[in-house]
Amino acid sequence: MYNPESPWYGRLHWQVFGAMLLGIVIGYSPAGGFFGEYFGWLGTLFMRLLKMIIVPLVVVSLISGVATAGSGRLVGRMFGKTLSYYLVSSFLAALTGLILFNLFNPGRGYPIVDSGTQPPELATPSSAVDLLLDIVPTNFLASATAGDMLGIIFFCIVFGVAVTTLPEGPRSKVTDLIDALFRVMMALTSGIIKLLPIGVFGLMVTLVGATGLRSFGNLFQYAAALGSGLAIHFFITLPLLLYFWGRVSPWRHAMNMREPLLVAFSTSSSAATLPVTLKTVREKVGVSNRVSSFTLPMGATVNMDGTAIMECVGALFIAQALGAEIGVMTQVAVVFTALLASIGAAAVPSAGLVVIFIILSVIGIGDNPEALLIVGAMLSIDRPLDMARTAVNVYSDSCAAAVVGKWEGEEGIDEKIAA
Ligand code: ASP
Repeated sequence: MYNPESPWYGRLHWQVFGAMLLGIVIGYSPAGGFFGEYFGWLGTLFMRLLKMIIVPLVVVSLISGVATAGSGRLVGRMFGKTLSYYLVSSFLAALTGLILFNLFNPGRGYPIVDSGTQPPELATPSSAVDLLLDIVPTNFLASATAGDMLGIIFFCIVFGVAVTTLPEGPRSKVTDLIDALFRVMMALTSGIIKLLPIGVFGLMVTLVGATGLRSFGNLFQYAAALGSGLAIHFFITLPLLLYFWGRVSPWRHAMNMREPLLVAFSTSSSAATLPVTLKTVREKVGVSNRVSSFTLPMGATVNMDGTAIMECVGALFIAQALGAEIGVMTQVAVVFTALLASIGAAAVPSAGLVVIFIILSVIGIGDNPEALLIVGAMLSIDRPLDMARTAVNVYSDSCAAAVVGKWEGEEGIDEKIAA
C-alpha cells in the first residue's frame, strides 16, 4: 500500500487528491448537476464495496486481535491490565471527540439541510440499560446478516477471550485459521481502498453538482474539531495517563518514540508501523519483551484512540449535517459505539472511515443516501487526518506498554532519552 519507492502520482493520497479536484471541477461546471447524476453510480459502487467488507473485516480483525494474546494465568493478569488501559484511554478519546463536536458544531448549516430534504429521525436507545442490552445479540448469525455491528463486536470479543483460555493445541488451530482469514481480509481491503480515487471522484461530482462548494466550510470545521481533539489527546490526556498511572516522564517517552510516530504519520497504518513500534518500545523505551510483545500487537488492532475521536466527531457531524435532532441519549450511544467501532477498525489507512458505518447504522442513518455523500466528502480530505490519528493510535499503544510494564514492576522504563 505505502511504497516510498513509487513516484508521487503513484501514491494513493495524491490520486485521491487529484480525483477530488477533478470531481470538484466537473461538479462545479455549468452541467455539474447532470454529471453528478451521470457519474454518481461510481461513488455508490465504492460505498457498496466498503460496506461489503465491514462485517467479515471486523469479525476477523477483532478475534485475531484478542485471541492471539496468548493464554495462562500470567497472561490473564496482563490481559486485564492492558484491556483496562485500552478501554479507559479510548473512552477518554471518544469523550474528547464529543466535547469538541459540541464546541465546534461542524455540521450546522450544511447545505444539504437548506436544500429542503427532510431531516432524518435518529434511532436512539431510550436508556443506558437499553444500549447495554442491545449489545448482547440473541443470535449471532442473525446479527451478522442484519449488520448489527454492536452484537457482532460483543460476540467477537468474548469469542476471542474464550479462545485464549484453550490449551495450546486447539488454540493455535483457531488462531492460525483466524490469522489466515485476517490476511485475506487485509488483502481484500487494500484492494478496495485502491479504488478510493474512483469512489471519491464519483461522490465529489455528485456532492458538488448538488450543493456547490458550500459544504467545504463545514468539512474544514469537522477537520478543525477532529484535529483539536487529536492534539488534546496527544499533548494532554495521554501524558497525564503516563504520568499518573505509570510514573513515566511524558517528555522522555515522546522523545523515545519519535521514530514510530514519524512512521505512523507517513504510512497511516498502525499495522505497518508495528515492527518499528515493537523495536523502539523494547530498545529505547526499555519495556521487556514479555510486556511489549503482548501489549503492542493487540493494541495495534484494538486500541485506536485517534480513531475513536474521529468516529465520534465524524458520526455526529454527519447527523448534524443532515439536520437531525441530536439528543443526549444519542450522544451517549455515539460515544459508546465510537469506542466499539475503534476497537473493530483494522490498522490500515482509512479504516476509520470504513467503520463509521457502524455508528451510522446504530443511530439509524446507515442507509441514508445523503449520509453516504458526506462520508465521500470526508474521505476526500481524510489522508492528513488519518496520518494524525494513526500517530495518536500508535502513541497510545506505546503508552500502554510503558504503563503496563511499570504495573508489572519493571525498572528502567523511559529513564533516559535514547539516542
Ligand atoms: N489508519 C488508522 C490506523 O492504522 C486507522 C484509521 O483509519 O483510523 O491506525
